[in-house]
Amino acid sequence: MGSEKIAIQNFTLDYYRINTLVVGSGVAALNAAVSLHAMGQEDILIATTQWGGGTSNNAGSDKQTYYKLSLSGNEPDSVPDMARDLFEGKCMHGDIALCEAQGSVQSFFNLVNLGVEFPHDKYGSWAGYKTDHDPRSRATSAVPYTSRRMFEALAGEVKKRNIEVLDNHQCVALLTDKTGSKVLGALAINKAEKDYTRAFVLFNSTNVILGTGGPGGIYDKSVYPLSQNGSIGMAFTAGATGQNLTESQFGIASVKFRWNLSGSYQQVISRYISNDYSPIGDKEFFNETGKITNDTLSLALKWKNSVKSSFNKKYLAEIQKRMSESGGLIRNRQMVEDSSKQAAKLLNRLPDEIGADSVTEMADAFSLIDNCISHFIYLSAIRVYIEKGGRSRGSYIIMDGSKQGSPTAHESIWKQELCIYDREIEKKILEVTFRSGSLKINLADVREIPKQDLWFERVWKEYIEDIYFDC
Ligand SMILES: Cc1cc2nc3c(=O)[nH]c(=O)nc-3n(C[C@H](O)[C@H](O)[C@H](O)COP(=O)(O)OP(=O)(O)OC[C@H]3O[C@@H](n4cnc5c(N)ncnc54)[C@H](O)[C@@H]3O)c2cc1C
Repeated sequence: MGSEKIAIQNFTLDYYRINTLVVGSGVAALNAAVSLHAMGQEDILIATTQWGGGTSNNAGSDKQTYYKLSLSGNEPDSVPDMARDLFEGKCMHGDIALCEAQGSVQSFFNLVNLGVEFPHDKYGSWAGYKTDHDPRSRATSAVPYTSRRMFEALAGEVKKRNIEVLDNHQCVALLTDKTGSKVLGALAINKAEKDYTRAFVLFNSTNVILGTGGPGGIYDKSVYPLSQNGSIGMAFTAGATGQNLTESQFGIASVKFRWNLSGSYQQVISRYISNDYSPIGDKEFFNETGKITNDTLSLALKWKNSVKSSFNKKYLAEIQKRMSESGGLIRNRQMVEDSSKQAAKLLNRLPDEIGADSVTEMADAFSLIDNCISHFIYLSAIRVYIEKGGRSRGSYIIMDGSKQGSPTAHESIWKQELCIYDREIEKKILEVTFRSGSLKINLADVREIPKQDLWFERVWKEYIEDIYFDC
């Protein structure tokens, strides 16, 4: 798959036309690429900041858990049961819970078939255990580096299938059509290129799959800080809606000897729907996405000539400190309010206050903006949740603004307001969008688990007539 050269402003860019651009090379991204390829879509390109980077290949745990439908012999389970358990955790749409429960079996066996060594006995029966609030021994593990084993297996499959990988390529913007309703491609920086005028890469693609991991980089402390960055800000800028951003998982970790004590689950949805098959024509692509590309390149020019790069680290530290103080385990009403205002102010002025003296610094400057957008949006979601009467739940406790200092393990903490899902903000899904610099919050009703009619002849007919999707 070759690229062409095109000139925009003072830059010479590599230009690719592909069906599907996969951004990132963690297990989510690689599984997407391998699954699509197996379904017959071979026009795929993976662009990643670092092959082997990311949380999946760099995180371990005492017993790192893979969560799926229970296949453990002595623990009966079913797709509706698992969907109900996921759904009853609250604030999750029922159709997503159902797809996740159903897809978990296929995703698990994909990994088994790629050689991930999940333990079974001599009869081939899978061992399982209970994790977190799991009632059915749905957890399994390729202890203690489950996600690394997954990465290695998927990476091997990517090579075997000859899926092209552009390493050292950091995506800095998603390119949408003029109405902002459809993603048409992406703009990236090739960090291996020394000349910044030749370092930008443009992708014109029918589909973009964003597999850039969680936003660990916005916090002050993470178990593996060099590999847990994330790039969700560009998705918000492109018009994506964030749901449940108030909820994060915080774990217990040692940071000298870097190790984690944790267990949760991650799944990869193994269904893709596309109603278009080829990237749009060049003329239309440049016409539709030209402004975003030009604005992004102009930012690069501004930073290059600014001699302000020495400030970049200071601003990243400010973002991380604010997030850890206000958006971590203990959330003080007043601090959250102040922090979200400060985050908004920083977001307004940050592009004018930073710089870049090299291509690597340029990539870092874009990443800084991404982190700034993310921390503003996460803090805004937390602020709105608290303002509308949301109370402590999951991994965090909300402290009243008037009470200073850290809480003690005294009974009175637990008498503080705990979420019992009887208020609108607690029952609904908090959605955040950030279009053209303006923040919108919506409280969406939770969709119930769909009632299914799995009478074979009916499903078979709809399946062979290809009419089983609503869209
Ligand atoms: C210590 C620890 C223990 C954990 N234990 C468990 C557990 O027991 N069970 C469980 O289910 N989960 C656990 N998790 C969570 C789980 O490991 C992660 O959710 C999962 O690995 C994330 O995979 P991912 O593919 O989404 O992202 P990642 O593996 O983080 O991959 C992100 C990829 O995107 C790339 N990237 C980022 N930004 C860009 C960009 N702008 N352009 C191009 N590429 C980009 C990165 O280089 C990387 O390749 C744990 C996490 C940690 C940190």
